[in-house]
Amino acid sequence: MQNLIELTKNDLEAFVAEDLKEHRFRAEQIWQWLWQKRVRDIDAMTNLSKPLREKLAAMATIAWPAIARVAESRDGTIKLLLRMGDGALIETVLIPMQDRYSQCLSTQVGCAMACTFCNTGKLGFERNLTYGEIMGQILVGRQYLEDRGMNPLKNLVFMGMGEPLLNLDNLIKVLTDLPCERGLSLSWRRSMVSTVGFPDKLNILGDLEIALPAISLHAPTQELRAKIMPKAAKVHLDDLMAALAAYPMRPRERITFEYLLLKDVNDSMEHADQLARLIDRKKGKINLIAYNATEGMPYEAPERGKVEAFEKRLWDHGLTAFIRRSMGADIKAACGQLKADEVK
Ligand code: SAH
Repeated sequence: MQNLIELTKNDLEAFVAEDLKEHRFRAEQIWQWLWQKRVRDIDAMTNLSKPLREKLAAMATIAWPAIARVAESRDGTIKLLLRMGDGALIETVLIPMQDRYSQCLSTQVGCAMACTFCNTGKLGFERNLTYGEIMGQILVGRQYLEDRGMNPLKNLVFMGMGEPLLNLDNLIKVLTDLPCERGLSLSWRRSMVSTVGFPDKLNILGDLEIALPAISLHAPTQELRAKIMPKAAKVHLDDLMAALAAYPMRPRERITFEYLLLKDVNDSMEHADQLARLIDRKKGKINLIAYNATEGMPYEAPERGKVEAFEKRLWDHGLTAFIRRSMGADIKAACGQLKADEVK
């Protein structure tokens, strides 16, 4: 049985022509039912004839990721623990903005990067998510919001579990199909792909012009980065910065650098000065995130005053830096926390 949400737009066209032996405009209709109207039953595709629906139902199903658990935060953040067809668990988070929601998507089950501060890193790597499992998170997220009459989903961040650039083929397929007007109709320019950074893979995304990267930097020097992100730092910081300098961007676009502040590790004024020397103020902006603490991890968040002083120091150097709200702390919204709980 073919799960229809596993087919890219191109795959669906081939499936309709070769397996169903139908005219290609049928692919357009089915696509719209799947991604815009979000039906979960082939029989609901009412502009297909009854015999065609029966033929399709004999060959295919529509299977979304299942919601295993929901945690809603006082600040409006909603975290969904999702179960895949094979039982694998992943997380997706709906984050309230002014008049809309942004969704944080996972790209892998677990993660191979083993960053020392990260819960998902601790779980280790299980497997890549498929195209349909990544896209399926958006179906589930949108439906969840719509069922409750909440604000619409308009932005995506690839910042959930896993390292998106290590699942590059599926990431590219997803980014390619997102904007489709009879489909999800989500612009990649309103999306952000968060990565520890791999120059060769960043070059590919840059050439395709389908993604804006956010780089999980977290340290201003190669030495410190190697300590807190040992696997990511196998790519030398100089090589990463060179790849980013070459990343194609529109005049007012910026590369986002994420900087997780860890008490007494990377939060001193000297670190801020080093960071300012590293980042080209014309091309980069910095998001400061206070560490979202978890039990059993050897780190703490700095005091608020320290975070603000760090931000001010960057502005004094002429850089654009913002402290990002750490949302959903009461529901364990930090990467991997909810799954870690469930697995326990
Ligand atoms: N692997 C990708 C995307 C997933 S992680 C990446 O590294 O960018 C998304 C972001 O959450 C990364 O910046 C990561 O470093 C950060 N993160 C991980 N654990 C965290 C924690 N406990 N508190 C705050 N941010 C965390």
